[in-house]
Amino acid sequence: MTDALLRMRIDDTDYNEFRDPLRAMCDAFPGAYWRALEDNPPDERFPEDFARAAMESGFLSALVDEGYGGAGLPLRVAAVILETIHSTSCNASSVIGQMYLPTILGKHGSAAQKQKYLPGIAAGDIRFLASAISEEDSGSDLAAIATRAEKRGEGWVVNGTKQWVNNARYTDLMLLLARTSEAPEGGDPRDGLTVFLVDMSKALDNGVSAEVIDAMINSNSENLVIKDLELPVDAVIGEIGKGHEYIRELSEVESILYAACASGDSDFFSDKAVKYANERVVFGRPISYNQGIQFPISKAFVEVQGAKLIGNKAAAIYDAGKRPGATASMAKHMACEAAWNMADACFTTHGGFAFAREYDVERKWRDVRIMQMAPQGTNMLLADIGENDLGMPRSF
Ligand SMILES: Cc1cc2nc3c(=O)[nH]c(=O)nc-3n(C[C@H](O)[C@H](O)[C@H](O)COP(=O)(O)OP(=O)(O)OC[C@H]3O[C@@H](n4cnc5c(N)ncnc54)[C@H](O)[C@@H]3O)c2cc1C
Repeated sequence: MTDALLRMRIDDTDYNEFRDPLRAMCDAFPGAYWRALEDNPPDERFPEDFARAAMESGFLSALVDEGYGGAGLPLRVAAVILETIHSTSCNASSVIGQMYLPTILGKHGSAAQKQKYLPGIAAGDIRFLASAISEEDSGSDLAAIATRAEKRGEGWVVNGTKQWVNNARYTDLMLLLARTSEAPEGGDPRDGLTVFLVDMSKALDNGVSAEVIDAMINSNSENLVIKDLELPVDAVIGEIGKGHEYIRELSEVESILYAACASGDSDFFSDKAVKYANERVVFGRPISYNQGIQFPISKAFVEVQGAKLIGNKAAAIYDAGKRPGATASMAKHMACEAAWNMADACFTTHGGFAFAREYDVERKWRDVRIMQMAPQGTNMLLADIGENDLGMPRSF
């Protein structure tokens, strides 16, 4: 652990061998590309060209073991990849699943599941972009999900609903959380939840129907109705009834990667704010001379640097083979707060022009706000830190 921390590279220009080609890839998808998608009807807003380019680039296989054709890189590099994408006009929410969802297969999948799926995922031939966990009536309360999977004959039959499932119509594989048994009395109410792998190329419109949500996001999210969905016995990932433990583990990786996305957005906003502040002349001089413009940018910049350090620390813990736990929550919380403050400073700097779509400030500002809510909203992150780092009682 100490070694990993000592080796930690804390500058944010490390791994330029990844940053440079990624920026070149993202240059092909400028703000105009994303704004044009937003002009489409809700069910035509998935950034297919960007997703295909990202899939073909090979960068998304960072966390798949080399033995299955992946790059087998540290989580820190995966974070750099996402940070770089978000420092441009791009948004990775259409493809981020491809990077971290396979880690659940790598850790808890059977040998047959790994062999069947990981090489295709690493090559970008199989898309693993969606996870279906949230439900309308359960919200943040995982234990309250109503989707049930029942053992019937040689397989499973699933019934229920899911809400806000990103990319459900654009993926080959989807992670699904369902209750397979009641929680034991007096035990952890989340016991009895099981993770399934759904082959969406077969299940979509054949057990799973998806309705797009008209929302202010740079991607696509769907409400799902699952009716008599038949799954084979080997669709279960890991141990039956232990799904919440795997989801918790997965959400630590997810938090570290979303922290990187938020830090990338911060870089986008700080570059844009500084450039505009130095160029925009009002009252006879650049507005960057004014403390009311300069200091909010400086203050947010300091917060961004702190968030990046905690993000690096959380990734270093993971890369040393340990669970980052609440440090992952801290990383995501700090990065999202810092990004929100930098977005706000960028907004103020641009004056009225911040509202004009062509500047991309309002679009990226919305992206940053979403990350304070999903995945793992601010309150849930603070609850995790309060309970698991500080030793206070669980707040829910
Ligand atoms: C753009 C987007 C994409 C998403 N993608 C996915 C996806 O791919 N897959 C998926 O499964 N889900 C996804 N979600 C769902 C997301 O994870 C949920 O929105 C989130 O879990 C919160 O659930 P909820 O919206 O029902 O809020 P609720 O649980 O109803 O909570 C409402 C508010 O109350 C707060 N709150 C609730 N309980 C407590 C408490 N005990 N203490 C303090 N505060 C509390 C919450 O933090 C929140 O601010 C996505 C959501 C969005 C907006």
